[in-house]
Amino acid sequence: MIVDLHNHTTLCNHAEGSIEDYVLSAIESGTKIFGFSDHAPMDFDPIYRMHFDEMQNYEAQVRAIAEKYKEKITILLGYEVDYLSAHMDERVLHADVDYLIGSVHFLEGWGFDNPEFIGKWHEQDIDEVWQNYFDTIEQMAKSKFFDIVGHLDLIKVFKFMPQGDIVAMAKNALLAIKDAQMVIELNVAGYRKDVAEAYPSKALLEMAFALDIPITFGSDAHKPQQINMFEKEVVALARSVGYKEVTYFVKRQAFSMAF
Ligand SMILES: [Zn+2]
Ligand SMILES: [Zn+2]
Repeated sequence: MIVDLHNHTTLCNHAEGSIEDYVLSAIESGTKIFGFSDHAPMDFDPIYRMHFDEMQNYEAQVRAIAEKYKEKITILLGYEVDYLSAHMDERVLHADVDYLIGSVHFLEGWGFDNPEFIGKWHEQDIDEVWQNYFDTIEQMAKSKFFDIVGHLDLIKVFKFMPQGDIVAMAKNALLAIKDAQMVIELNVAGYRKDVAEAYPSKALLEMAFALDIPITFGSDAHKPQQINMFEKEVVALARSVGYKEVTYFVKRQAFSMAF
């Protein structure tokens, strides 16, 4: 992927490899614009993310490595922020970064993509869970806090699929994304999970394209070797739907390039 904006660091406590190893892996795979977007701090589920007092260190490390390798690659700085309306924090929302990815990993405090809590899937109506998920994505877009929607249909991670029409369920979310001038990412982490396909599905991507919603790409790497895996698949998916440009952000301003 020539642009790859979703990548983590060890500060989140569930990734491995040095920041430099990520950058070297990105350079080796031909990435032109590479962004770190580690899990932002939040006063909820603090184990899986950096602490507030680590933000400065994270930002300084990314800016320093960007300077060191600026002749070879453009390195951008961002955060992946959990959208939990009661836990939003100004220090993150107003951080001096290139972009913020907004992601939904929790529904009423339930970490639905965490294998530890998979049992809860069996206690609920799957269609209701899916609708609740897309309603939360819609609220996130309406908050206008973020630039990029992280893994738009993460709810499919364990392949508990609904009976209802997924595109209809996601329609209001996509309209809100369009209205907020947000970008959606094609995230390859899904290829590494039970569902074994990109986020989002082709059907959702087609609707995004019809609405003229721009895209970006993300490895969602939690180790350097995961950078640029499944590039062929995800670029083919984007092209098959009609996309020709990929968007990235510098200081919260959108730019795009052909891919
Ligand atoms: Zn993570
Ligand atoms: Zn995520």
